[in-house]
Amino acid sequence: MSATIIDGKKVAKDITEALRQEVEALKAKGVVPGLAVVLVGENPASKKYVSSKEKTCESLGIKSLGNKIPENTTQEELMKLIDNLNNDPKVHGILVQLPLPKHLNEKEVMHAISAAKDVDGFGPDSLGRLVLDEPGFLPCTPHGCMKLLESYGVDPKGKHAVVVGRSVIVGKPIALLLLRQHATVTICHSRTPDLKETCLKADILCAAVGKAEMIKGDWIKEGAAVIDIGINVKEDGKLVGDVEFEKAKERAGFITPVPGGVGPMTIAMLMYNTVEAAKATVK
Ligand code: NDP
Repeated sequence: MSATIIDGKKVAKDITEALRQEVEALKAKGVVPGLAVVLVGENPASKKYVSSKEKTCESLGIKSLGNKIPENTTQEELMKLIDNLNNDPKVHGILVQLPLPKHLNEKEVMHAISAAKDVDGFGPDSLGRLVLDEPGFLPCTPHGCMKLLESYGVDPKGKHAVVVGRSVIVGKPIALLLLRQHATVTICHSRTPDLKETCLKADILCAAVGKAEMIKGDWIKEGAAVIDIGINVKEDGKLVGDVEFEKAKERAGFITPVPGGVGPMTIAMLMYNTVEAAKATVK
């Protein structure tokens, strides 16, 4: 049997449409949600991501405050910019597009963003709250993955979830969110032996590795929900995920395509966090 294909574009659109009304309501109270997007240098992929974030902001009535600064910006200059944005009442959310050029200290920058404006959810306050199960900004991609499961009626409670990848921005937060939803979670990484056997036990399999089609179709448990976070460009220019989609979909119960699965959700959840940040400023 072929899997239900999880339509991330549709779920993302439903979320952003609901946000449009919230933005209108905020504007009626005199608050225009503002997102400051900081782009350092000319990385083509980063420019593309920033441009689609800006477009989505515009379409929802969120003010996008672009801060495009040159590659040779110093750490001191960048920290000063973050400080200005932290203190600017028009700015509700601050997003620093990663990766930063090599000479800049990413961690120091992430730590400098005010917790109230950390709409990417990568700062220590947001991540600490995630671990503590306290309300706070959730990292956008992991939050988007959870929304996809929820939209398709996949309840993690009591399921065995396997997360392949343990990065701070994707793998680890997804594992914590699945745990919060009462899944039994296994986290795999580059030193995990028997990856295939572990994946085969997954009722929910989240792949966040960054290796084209590394997870083979015959690693998928029959009926599993497969969330493919990977974005990889093959030699022929084709965009693929971390999962061998065509074969995996013959065994999975639900599966996200790449593109059109997790990708659109990341921006939708960024918009969600920005609106939440703006709402928190309404007296
Ligand atoms: P990282 O490179 O930071 O992390 C990759 C993880 O995969 C690491 O934990 C690594 O293990 C693990 N890994 C690498 N090789 C293997 C292997 N052979 N077997 C098992 N595990 C392995 O990547 P990110 O988490 O930042 O991103 C992962 C993917 O998700 C990328 O393709 C990225 O482009 C995509 N992405 C997509 C987003 C979206 O909006 N859809 C947003 C963010 C990322 P170890 O820790 O041991 O090195």
